[in-house]
Amino acid sequence: MDDCLFCKIVNKELPSNIIFENDRLMAFKDIDPQAPIHFLIIPKMHISTLNDLESGHQELIGEMFLTAKQLAKEYKIAKAGYRTVFNCNQEGGQAVYHIHLHLLGGRQMCWPPG
Ligand code: AMP
Ligand code: ZN
Repeated sequence: MDDCLFCKIVNKELPSNIIFENDRLMAFKDIDPQAPIHFLIIPKMHISTLNDLESGHQELIGEMFLTAKQLAKEYKIAKAGYRTVFNCNQEGGQAVYHIHLHLLGGRQMCWPPG
C-alpha cells in the first residue's frame, strides 16, 4: 500500500533495523523502544488492523507468534518472560495502520497496562 509506513519498510524504501525476515514476515527494532527488547513483527502483506483479519490469515498470524517465541529465545528473554501485544484502532492505541505484533522484554512488565 502506497501510503503505509510499514509497507515502505517492507519494500526497503525506509531504513529499519531488521532482525528477521522471510517471504511472509519481517521483524525489526521499534524506533522508540518501551523496554530493553522491543521488536515489531509484521506480515509483508498489508493488513490495516486486526478487524481486517480473515480466515485465510490464520497461518500468518500463527507464524507471527511462533516468530515472537523464536526471537524471545534468541534474545534470551524467554525464561524471564516477555509480553506480546497487538493494538487495534484508536482506543487500542494503534498508531501505525499495518498490523504488527509488539514483542517486549528485558524488564518487569506492569499489569494492567495504562
Ligand atoms: P502501535 O501504537 O501499536 O501502532 O505501534 C506503532 C509502533 O511503531 C510504535 O511503538 C512506534 O515506536 C513504532 N514505529 C513507528 N515508526 C517506526 C519506524 N520507522 N521504525 C520502527 N518502529 C517504528
Ligand atoms: Zn502496509
